[in-house]
Amino acid sequence: MTVIETLKALYYSLTNIVKKPVTLMYPDKPLPTFKRSRGMLSLDLDNCIGCELCFRICPADAIRMQKINLNFPHNARDEAPAIDFNKCIFCGLCSEICPPQVLHHTHRFDISTADRAELMYSPFQLKEVFKELVEKHKDEFDVHVKAEIPSAKPETQNSQDAVQKPTETNPK
Ligand code: SF4
Ligand code: SF4
Repeated sequence: MTVIETLKALYYSLTNIVKKPVTLMYPDKPLPTFKRSRGMLSLDLDNCIGCELCFRICPADAIRMQKINLNFPHNARDEAPAIDFNKCIFCGLCSEICPPQVLHHTHRFDISTADRAELMYSPFQLKEVFKELVEKHKDEFDVHVKAEIPSAKPETQNSQDAVQKPTETNPK
């Protein structure tokens, strides 16, 4: 190796040492998501009317209706959707068609697992995801969800549009 080549190699080595990393330190630093990104679904189970529209429209056959034994007067069939995230293509159709708008996309995308069974969510598991979502975005839900959250501000934005607060990695 000539002196010039050695100096070049040294130059590249030194500049790379002081450069900022080009990759994000995931999962220590969560990746930014877009405002309208469609992540994992959540379900406001208590307000589901069991109409089965989500089940019928799902193009990926990812939804099946499951008995919930809650006997809500507004849910005559006493059933709600269970979602298989192994099949879901996150198209958003179920959320769009739902008459009482109780299916909400979250920004969660890191749901992969080694066990396929863990990606089959019952209505009750989807409700747990919904509770996390409400807690995280309680100032940004639509009127329907806000009715259950006394401290929330009266905005009319759909939960799919839940605005993520600007962060260093996700500036607005
Ligand atoms: S997002 Fe699309 S694929 Fe996923 S459950 Fe809903 S309708 Fe089915
Ligand atoms: S989630 Fe919505 S579309 Fe699906 S059964 Fe319940 S109310 Fe109907």
